[in-house]
Amino acid sequence: MTNKDLIHLHDQHIMGTYGRFPIALSHGKGATLYDFDGKAYIDFASGIGVNSLGYGNEAWVRAVAEQAARLGHVSNLYYTEPAARLAEALCRRTGMDKVFFANSGAESNEGLIKLARKYSHDKYGPERSQIVTLHQSFHGRTISTLAATGQDVFHNHFFPFTEGFVHVPAGDIDALKTAAGTGTCAVLLELIQGEGGVLPLDKVYVAEVAAFCKAQDILLLIDEVQTGIGRTGSLFAFQQYGITPDGVSFAKGIAGGVPFGGFLAAETCSTVLGPGTHATTFGGNPIGAAAAGVVLDTLTDETLREITDKGRYIQEQILSMQNPYVAEIRGLGLMIGIILQDISHKEVVGKLGDAGVLALTAGSETLRLLPPLTISYAEIDTGLAILQSVLTP
Ligand SMILES: *Cc1c(COP(=O)(O)O)cnc(C)c1O
Repeated sequence: MTNKDLIHLHDQHIMGTYGRFPIALSHGKGATLYDFDGKAYIDFASGIGVNSLGYGNEAWVRAVAEQAARLGHVSNLYYTEPAARLAEALCRRTGMDKVFFANSGAESNEGLIKLARKYSHDKYGPERSQIVTLHQSFHGRTISTLAATGQDVFHNHFFPFTEGFVHVPAGDIDALKTAAGTGTCAVLLELIQGEGGVLPLDKVYVAEVAAFCKAQDILLLIDEVQTGIGRTGSLFAFQQYGITPDGVSFAKGIAGGVPFGGFLAAETCSTVLGPGTHATTFGGNPIGAAAAGVVLDTLTDETLREITDKGRYIQEQILSMQNPYVAEIRGLGLMIGIILQDISHKEVVGKLGDAGVLALTAGSETLRLLPPLTISYAEIDTGLAILQSVLTP
């Protein structure tokens, strides 16, 4: 099959919900992908922050294959080993008390929303259900997580949306305090807003939000679907912000490409969701949990330091290009936003694809890089050389 054949077959039967590039990917090794015509691409996207160990990682392939052979799925009416081991590692490495396993980012955030509402309902009754989120946030594509998302472009077509979300400008503590009245049960935020444009929140602001939430018994929920699992150079970004959240969601990178997600709860709220209150058929699936176990094992202190170093290296190399289209660079670890000027970010991503680099956009002017956490310096250099040539006026 060629790229053209595959694209034709695909478009005949799959809904046109995605604006796809004309690239049909066949296989990969490390942080390099190959299409059906044999062309190579340096991967600066990892799916969208998913393929944390790149492609063909031996330990990951072995764990997935062995678990598939041993036990691919059982219902949550029974106990399994990979989920138990993964939960232990996640709690030990975060100081959180318990975890619920789900399958995607949106579903994990839905779980956090339910957790917060029930926490408050149990303790204060039904009048305390509002959740405050930030402008430019992104929390998912279900009806409730769209409502939670603080961008008006997402509040179309699908009315009525779930009630009970208010959005305030990021970085404005007074606006948050004003919006969070006696009817508020939680604040939900991303520490670096990914889809919104790779926008890191200010540390002082986040500390003020945390202190305010604690004083009001409002749950502090952190959406780490994109920032979590080593992406920013620590297992979770909140560990670099010096806060102790009540709930933390994760998905994308956790299982290195197998659909998997979930949320962690601190002792403050880890027993709120009792039997029968929340469930999902595939949650904690043994193959995904085994894959996630390999990802966590790979993210040692040394690997996390390397992620920070590689991120710094990429930022320095791009700055040293002194490219007229590059206005600013921001981000943490291997979550990098290159803010472009005088050129469309979408056009740049299209040209990068043609030239052999896969990258992402974010917000209205940001070129976003989320390479595999295991990318080599040689692959980084190849990708950056292509980036420089594409950005040559
Ligand atoms: C991608 C993303 C989501 C949604 O995750 P899905 O797996 O697509 O449902 C939610 N929050 C953040 C911060 C994300 O980056």
